[in-house]
Amino acid sequence: MPKTEHWQWYVERFAPTEEHHHAVEETYYAGRSAFQDIAVIRTPTFGKMLVLDGDTQSSQHDEKIYHESLVHPALAAVDDRREVLILGGGEGATLREVLRRSDVARCTMVDIDGDVVELSKKYLPEWAAGAFEDPRARVIVGDALAYLRDDRETYGVVISDLTEPLEDSPSNPLFCDAVFTDIKARLAPGGVYVLQASTAGFHNMFVHAKMVRTLRHYYKYVRSFYTHVPAFDNDWAFIACSDGVDVAELASDRIDAYVAGLRGENYFYDAQTHRRLFSLPLYLRRELAKAGETF
Ligand code: SAM
Repeated sequence: MPKTEHWQWYVERFAPTEEHHHAVEETYYAGRSAFQDIAVIRTPTFGKMLVLDGDTQSSQHDEKIYHESLVHPALAAVDDRREVLILGGGEGATLREVLRRSDVARCTMVDIDGDVVELSKKYLPEWAAGAFEDPRARVIVGDALAYLRDDRETYGVVISDLTEPLEDSPSNPLFCDAVFTDIKARLAPGGVYVLQASTAGFHNMFVHAKMVRTLRHYYKYVRSFYTHVPAFDNDWAFIACSDGVDVAELASDRIDAYVAGLRGENYFYDAQTHRRLFSLPLYLRRELAKAGETF
């Protein structure tokens, strides 16, 4: 970066004393919807980025690390993928990954913020890569909380791709006992509920650990997994829950066969990456083993 150049900066403050500064090449949009502040920018290192309420949601150059991790371990684990439900997922990249399997008959996506969906279609078409136009996509603009309460269908996989449950976020009410009960009622027998589940960094793994401890009250298998996501400047965690299948223990030949059935090539996920995702460091395993406070 030439020293004489004057940049505008997007500063993500992820703790009172920690910031990541991104030079901004272009601001495509900055405004407020009925639910949150929305910005769509472009930076030299990460390409285009979606930012909601000051939190990076995904970046063009590494979103596949996040979205392949969120979707494929869960989809690989189930036998029946005909019906899949996504909570949130406004950019359309989670939808894109799900629809790469031809045995998915329908994918329902429920996002509260139509502005995020429309801005993503306009400025971030690489994320959905045509998935919004796929006839198998059913996109509902609405609150996932209400959808889960009223819905009577069942799904082989439920994917939660919601914003972090910070106090002022519209996703906050979705992390509570009543909703975990509703989600469980929507899962087909042997199905998997997978969620993006905050950070796994040594300095801020506590929200994640609380989610894991809470979900253990609902499912036989609750498996934490994570990977470094450069745009988040952190280790990002996910949780796979099921009564029928231990997602951490999928056999490599099952994963190979699943990946071979995906349209196009993966960027990040395969059987070797699966082992790495579910192989947790000692400090995190210790934190997860603690009893006590739940989410
Ligand atoms: N990768 C993500 C992150 O870093 O947090 C999540 C991505 S996705 C953009 C999150 C989506 O959750 C947003 O589009 C937001 O509108 C949606 N969302 C938040 N609360 C919601 C709710 N109550 N019902 C449905 N969607 C919700």
